[in-house]
Amino acid sequence: MQTNLSDLIRDTPDGRNAEAILRACVHCGFCNATCPTYQIQGDELDGPRGRIYLMKQMLEGAPVTATTRLHLDRCLTCHSCETTCPSGVRYGHLVDIGRKLVAERVARPTSEKLKRWMMATFFHDPRSFRLALGAGRAVRPLLPATLRAKLPASIPSAGAWPSARHTRRFVALAGCAQPVLTPDTNAAAARVLDRLGVSLIETQGCCGALRFHLDYQARGLDDMRRAIDAWWPYVEQGVEGFAMTASGCGATVREYGHHLKDDPAYAAKAARVSTMTRDLTEVVAAESTSLVSLLAGKRMPRVAFHPPCTLQHWQKLRGLAEDLLRGLGYELTTVADAHLCCGSAGTYALTQPELSERLKHNKIAALQAEDPELILTANVGCETHLATIAGVPVKHWIVDLDERLRS
Ligand code: SF4
Ligand code: SF4
Repeated sequence: MQTNLSDLIRDTPDGRNAEAILRACVHCGFCNATCPTYQIQGDELDGPRGRIYLMKQMLEGAPVTATTRLHLDRCLTCHSCETTCPSGVRYGHLVDIGRKLVAERVARPTSEKLKRWMMATFFHDPRSFRLALGAGRAVRPLLPATLRAKLPASIPSAGAWPSARHTRRFVALAGCAQPVLTPDTNAAAARVLDRLGVSLIETQGCCGALRFHLDYQARGLDDMRRAIDAWWPYVEQGVEGFAMTASGCGATVREYGHHLKDDPAYAAKAARVSTMTRDLTEVVAAESTSLVSLLAGKRMPRVAFHPPCTLQHWQKLRGLAEDLLRGLGYELTTVADAHLCCGSAGTYALTQPELSERLKHNKIAALQAEDPELILTANVGCETHLATIAGVPVKHWIVDLDERLRS
């Protein structure tokens, strides 16, 4: 695609990055076919090709309006378009630049600003998240039905965390939402890995995705720097890597090298952390032979697996979790349109509730079409989002695997 970026941005890092991405796009529109919002809205501007065109106009100096922002806000940042694109267009990096420019140039209405500020302030730290959740549950009957439905019915207990007794060690991130909503996930991962001769050590903090995607990119980058500071001593001690138990965090950490490439103090460390990052499915899949022996004689259930967008499209690990589970003896149902987002998408369920609800209902219909006993997934956001309407339990796959091993 020909570009003529405005003088204001052409010679900046964002300008150079955006120009390279725009030039790779041949405007074929293949990506529209797998875009969840294009399928629902049927509007070119709610598909990747239209959004790319909007961003191109903006970068070339055209006026930016609330309409530009609306179409970018409706994007789930699911990266399904990246999986489909034959030209390798990095839509995700472009939309980060586009959203930053829109936030600088078009003020949001006060109510929206307040909503985003509250999410960025209360959700990025587990202590304030826990307080906000407790307050919400205390006044549950008084809340609007849409908000009430989003509150989890119960919080599972974490259970015991094994001591760090093995030479092989991985580091996990506690994150912001996961320790509050599903504290059993990291503990289950630690127990399963412990049986496999690997110790999991947990560090506190948010990966940075939450604030980065809420108009607070600079603060999101600060969260990333804090995570690197917390992890660097472990890099120096020789840990094997970072095992991400929430695919949303993993997708972000894998991009630290990109996000901090222009920060001289952090660029090298960020790149190193990104290359050392693995999704938990990769870590466990490498030990699957031992697991098969440990599971001998256990009853394995019939499950529907929901692959989060951050696992299949961002981290390009399509099919890995499904293959792992099948290899361990799980019976997997066939799920139609598995490439489509469930509508959770970080805080999307709160910023775009109507689209999010439609996507959730479509996803649950697809997941439950063949009557599974359980729905398994790999990200806290998808798990808690789907659980609000699912007719069967929804769990992180590692939690179910831990339960099978202990049964
Ligand atoms: S992003 Fe890729 S698939 Fe979409 S229009 Fe551009 S080249 Fe085609
Ligand atoms: S990231 Fe997802 S919602 Fe956004 S344009 Fe791409 S496919 Fe559509």
